Amino acid sequence: SDPVLEIRNLDVNYGLGDEAVHAVRDVSLTLHRGEVLGLAGESGSGKSTLAYGMLRLLPPPGVITGGQVLYHPRDGEPLDLMTLSTANLRRFRWSEISIVFQGAMNSLNPVHTIAAQLCDVIAAHEPRTSRAAQRARAKDLLKLVGINADRLNSYPHQLSGGMRQRVMIAMALALEPRVVVMDEPTTALDVVMQRQILAQLVELRERIGFSVLFITHDLSLLVEFSDRIAIMYGGRIVESAPAQDLYRESLHPYSDGLLHSFPALRGPRRELTGIPGSPPDLRAMPSGCAFHPRCPKAFEPCADRSPVLAAPPGTSSATDNRTVACWLHAVERVNT
Ligand code: ATP
Ligand code: MG
Repeated sequence: SDPVLEIRNLDVNYGLGDEAVHAVRDVSLTLHRGEVLGLAGESGSGKSTLAYGMLRLLPPPGVITGGQVLYHPRDGEPLDLMTLSTANLRRFRWSEISIVFQGAMNSLNPVHTIAAQLCDVIAAHEPRTSRAAQRARAKDLLKLVGINADRLNSYPHQLSGGMRQRVMIAMALALEPRVVVMDEPTTALDVVMQRQILAQLVELRERIGFSVLFITHDLSLLVEFSDRIAIMYGGRIVESAPAQDLYRESLHPYSDGLLHSFPALRGPRRELTGIPGSPPDLRAMPSGCAFHPRCPKAFEPCADRSPVLAAPPGTSSATDNRTVACWLHAVERVNT
């Protein structure tokens, strides 16, 4: 394995003291070189908090209360993004790790052309590049994301939502980063659009070679396009597995529920059942496994003790690359 980004035991709170909401809980997750890693979970499960937390981009009152995020540069020792100086961190973003925010397409400046905004990103990091060279790069970038160069002088309002989102991807790729984080809004972009964008990213990944962390509610998209999938519930990762393995046999009942919440785009049709109940209140988490009140398979240990995220019995985390936090698949249970 060739890790690019390693999140270790990350904890994020909103607010302080008794009022704090513990939104990301002891999350460890590794993004490998050239990999598309999908992160799924219902609204409020902590996906965006994890993505922004690991890049120290949390809006107040978000605070990181523990953990490390190791970035492995092309050469040299890994760096902990949590302790990097703000100046170094700023240099890092866009050039090494870039992020396309949830709703990013609305953050384009309405009074500047697409070309001007792409050139600005390039100029901010490469001030010695001539304006003509910047424009040429901007044109190439647009072409890369499937937008005709004659759109270069368009203003954001002249483009469709999908095009604007692709302009944001072009911006994120402008400095050839090694990691692209994409947090997809569910409301602003429909699934068809999300699908096109993800397909485009995967294709570009094959041509340019970067790693992608793609965040969405829609597990069927991830099954189709990602290499590996991690599922979040109540601020924790509850299962991670290679995409095809998860699709074939999800181990956590929550993953199962998510898989049955969206129509499959390919492969056999699944019956849509959804998940009864609603996500947990982070201020008053259920005891034991946070999913147990909604779980169709809950049994006696589930309400009492929290299962740890580990390789299920009969698999090895080294070769099978699967982990699950569920009493149905806990080694301890098999032994007793
Ligand atoms: P979505 O799919 O809707 O984008 P998400 O998985 O990205 O959801 P987050 O936005 O990370 O979820 O939110 C995780 C939890 O943190 C939620 O319970 C949310 O209410 C809480 N939260 C998010 N932002 C803040 C904030 N600024 N102040 C307090 N709580 C917050
Ligand atoms: Mg979010």
